Amino acid sequence: AKPILEVNDLRVSFKMYAGEVQAVRGVSFTLNKGEVLAIVGESGCGKSVTAQTIMRLNPTPPSIIKEGSSILFDGKHEITKLTNSQMEHVRGEEMGMIFQDPMTSLNPTMTIGAQISEGIRKHQKVKKVEALLRASDLLALVGISNPHERLHQYPHELSGGMRQRVMIAIALACNPKLLIADEPTTALDVTIQAQIIDLLRDIQKKTETSIIIITHDLGVVAEIAQRVLVMYAGRVVEQGYLDEIFYNPQHPYTWGLLRSVPRLDSDTKSALVSIPGTPPDLFAPPKGCAFAARCPYAMKVCTEIDPGHFRVSDTHSSACWLLHEDAPNVERPIEAGG
Ligand code: SF4
Ligand code: MG
Repeated sequence: AKPILEVNDLRVSFKMYAGEVQAVRGVSFTLNKGEVLAIVGESGCGKSVTAQTIMRLNPTPPSIIKEGSSILFDGKHEITKLTNSQMEHVRGEEMGMIFQDPMTSLNPTMTIGAQISEGIRKHQKVKKVEALLRASDLLALVGISNPHERLHQYPHELSGGMRQRVMIAIALACNPKLLIADEPTTALDVTIQAQIIDLLRDIQKKTETSIIIITHDLGVVAEIAQRVLVMYAGRVVEQGYLDEIFYNPQHPYTWGLLRSVPRLDSDTKSALVSIPGTPPDLFAPPKGCAFAARCPYAMKVCTEIDPGHFRVSDTHSSACWLLHEDAPNVERPIEAGG
């Protein structure tokens, strides 16, 4: 498989009065064509900033992509080096983004049809009528019944799940090679969440679009992803195929995340075990392993030297000193298979 995206040593900071927040600190990964990659981690781990940087959607306050970072898209566009207008072109023709809250991204004063067809006409030379027909096809593709009637409706006339489907239709309007979905189901209730994930999976199969899905929800990951990137404090701490992460996790942070997955037998979200402690201050990140302050297995070396990435298999790595040959054998808190 050919890569659609090669991210190498990505570093992104925010300049604040008090100093520089190092939100993303050396992230590297490859996404192959037609693959679904999940980026997981708690809020503030840098997963959204990574996604926004790939699309060069500048967050507020403006971020700085550090020298030496590289994001190669489709083997030919170095995203970190494109001018704003080149980037706008790439984004409009080849990338689509789906956000958490469709209401803030949809225009309340425009009909659904106008919004989708506007997106189509911005980048493809087609007549209004053709664009509307294509909009109606897209609505059908995202599972909206009576698409012709829906074209005339306004966002407030639709349910939350419907609005998210419309957002997905807009993201698909340019036939993107890469679709980035940032917490696409977080604002929806559980049944609708499952429908949206099914839809994304369907679309991925039909269109062979590569997808990056950003989420804190490992249930979502298990449903849709082939590969998983676990992020903590601006770094990738573990990455591998879905089975490797779920059945043979190697990083204590991943163990913590897996333990906090809601089980079928627990009915409320408050029953989740969360990982005690808080992530480090990224104004001044710790020099060793960033998870050390919360890690029950932390050793002296952990607070002093960054572990780097230890190889578990050709496709699986973990940034943890426990994988060093001289490290003690620890008892794993979770059974294989979570
Ligand atoms: Fe814990 Fe050390 Fe591994 Fe970090 S490197 S996760 S502190 S054992
Ligand atoms: Mg986020």
